[in-house]
Amino acid sequence: MSALSYVSQDKDSAWATWLSQVDRVVPYLGDLAPWADTLRHTKRALIVDIPLEMDDGTIRHFEGYRVQHNLSRGPGKGGVRFHPDVTLEEVMALSAWMTVKSAVLNLPFGGAKGGIRVNPRELSAKELERLTRRYTSEIGNIIGPQQDIPAPDVGTNAQIMAWMMDTYSMNVGATTTGVVTGKPIHLGGSLGRVKATGRGVYITGIAAAQRIGLEIHDCSVAVQGFGNVGSVSAALFYEAGARIVAIQDHSATLWCESGIDIPALTEWQRENGTIAGFRQAETLRSDDFWLKAYDILIPAALEGQINAERARNLNCRLVLEGANGPTLPAADDLLRQRNITVVPDVICNAGGVTVSYFEWVQDFSSFYWSESEINQRLDRIMNDALRDVWLQAEKLNVTLRTAAYAIACERILIARKERGLYP
Ligand code: NAD
Repeated sequence: MSALSYVSQDKDSAWATWLSQVDRVVPYLGDLAPWADTLRHTKRALIVDIPLEMDDGTIRHFEGYRVQHNLSRGPGKGGVRFHPDVTLEEVMALSAWMTVKSAVLNLPFGGAKGGIRVNPRELSAKELERLTRRYTSEIGNIIGPQQDIPAPDVGTNAQIMAWMMDTYSMNVGATTTGVVTGKPIHLGGSLGRVKATGRGVYITGIAAAQRIGLEIHDCSVAVQGFGNVGSVSAALFYEAGARIVAIQDHSATLWCESGIDIPALTEWQRENGTIAGFRQAETLRSDDFWLKAYDILIPAALEGQINAERARNLNCRLVLEGANGPTLPAADDLLRQRNITVVPDVICNAGGVTVSYFEWVQDFSSFYWSESEINQRLDRIMNDALRDVWLQAEKLNVTLRTAAYAIACERILIARKERGLYP
């Protein structure tokens, strides 16, 4: 359990999951093991109050966070989540996973994450803009293109990034496009960014499927979450000829043995704002999502979704972690025992941070690349990283997650050690 006074002792919390993942990699860190404790601490955690005047004239207060877990390898990088259940502890874990993710992909970033405890669906566009601008001002002292670069996550999008960029630019007196990534294209955003995370899930998923002998066009796929990551992943597997048999979001669980028509579902969601009510599929009880048989499961919603009980019952061959932290440690052990391969979040969903890196580089040079250049570079980086993680897992006889952590933590802790402690 955590030695930090401000975190709970909840063994299923996202931070507890992170600590357990660190414990699992320590035996493989050799001479660097004495430095591992640095990973159990966040470098900086800022809590801010965001007072907001609502459209009806009342004032409400929202709690916001920005956490920088580790900056040894470069500026902080990580999304901003707007969700009513966000907590400091969750943001800490998400920031730590960003540290590992950047290092597995060998991107020159540390790990950070932010969030506001708010349901953005309950705010008007004007309220959302005021909330975003005040939050950006409150965390303005610790973000910047060389310090910490936010991006979209659950409940945030390109428009929110545009408001963040504008607010930061107003405060520093100069247009600073490189302060956030995931911006609209005409504000220095990168082509390919919106689809990058889902594309990364697909690229690593295809590579992993081949390695365990699955043919994509014979595969059935279940996807939890039909937002940015889930919908793009589902569309790419659909286009590759897989049958998408189940889709679950916060509103409904859909099932169709012969395969859901993903373009039709996307259109339905665009028109109705939800997947619920889609008539070309059966609607299941939400728990049945975990009991059905399919080849590939893509959790692409929130963390902690695959617990021990679900892991015991899952009837699939491959789990592609589109979400951050969807598998609890006890479930990880069961999946390994049951010979279900898990491509861990820190590599599987790293397509977004990789194209964020491309966006940051393009903003610095004000020289923009074509979408095909971006996708080619993304595919190469992700395939190379998956290959290295796979070889490491075979060499150490560990899960892909522990192998990815072994590669990443070595890079992080070498940087930590070589920089030395200040003062
Ligand atoms: P999003 O807000 O676009 O979509 C989230 C989806 O999850 C929605 O379809 C929502 O209905 C569904 N959902 C929410 N609660 C649910 C529940 N209890 N049961 C089932 N479904 C539920 O968010 P996103 O950007 O797609 O992010 C999804 C996950 O991927 C998160 O874990 C996020 O941290 C991770 N991720 C996102 C990116 C990115 O670039 N957007 C990058 C890396 C990782």
